[in-house]
Amino acid sequence: MMLDLRGVSVRLDGRPIVHEADLLVDASEFVALVGPNGCGKSTLLRTIYRALRPSAGLISVDGDDVHGLSWRESARRTAVVAQETPSELDFTVGEVVLMGRTPYERVPAADEERCARALDRVGLAGAEERVYATLSGGEKQRALIARALVQETPLLLLDEPTSHLDIRHQLEILHLVRELGVATLAVLHDLNQAAAFCDRLYVMSAGRVLAGGPPGQVLTPDLISEVYGVRAVHRTQLVFERFKEEP
Ligand code: ADP
Ligand code: MG
Repeated sequence: MMLDLRGVSVRLDGRPIVHEADLLVDASEFVALVGPNGCGKSTLLRTIYRALRPSAGLISVDGDDVHGLSWRESARRTAVVAQETPSELDFTVGEVVLMGRTPYERVPAADEERCARALDRVGLAGAEERVYATLSGGEKQRALIARALVQETPLLLLDEPTSHLDIRHQLEILHLVRELGVATLAVLHDLNQAAAFCDRLYVMSAGRVLAGGPPGQVLTPDLISEVYGVRAVHRTQLVFERFKEEP
């Protein structure tokens, strides 16, 4: 198992935010984490990438307790695109992407090649010299995904990776992540997209992981109405598919 959470609880300012969460991501699985605003999704992710400590429970990545790993070892296993990312970094795009190589020894020519490839994969080929702060929100998001890619970890954590993107770039990123073949846990808001792209998904509500499994089994009208307080109706829907040429 690439990621294994057992009974993970998190408290912030003495308040319980996550309660006894169990969650698994197998190697090469693309798993979504969905749930209403404020239910604890980001808190759970931050605990997995060690920005927070759990008050109870165990989190292991590739067999080891993450809170017992060195910073470097952990950064070689888990890459993150966080929800709140610095938007005014005074760096070029190339420098930002290169930060993903921090846990490794620098090999300048090979690292530049890696960065160029990663930028190409996220649709920012040749953007190395652009100033990060001048990018659009969607371009920043894609540059940060490129930074996570060059980290070459077996586990990827994405917190709302499509939130600043137009529909075309949302689909590009979701396709890209699915095709990476890297174990991925992604917080997604769009339930239809989660169902279309993910192998499995987990639903959180009020700090608890309520259900997990294949989208078709988990996203029932009953669960959606319980968790979100909305009625879900199955209808024929408009399906967006990407095609290669820029519009
Ligand atoms: P989600 O990502 O699902 O929208 P969060 O994990 O960001 O939810 O937040 C869950 C709850 O934890 C919210 O009630 C939020 O106000 C609270 N919270 C988040 N960060 C902190 C913090 N640093 N200190 C205290 N409470 C926090
Ligand atoms: Mg969040």
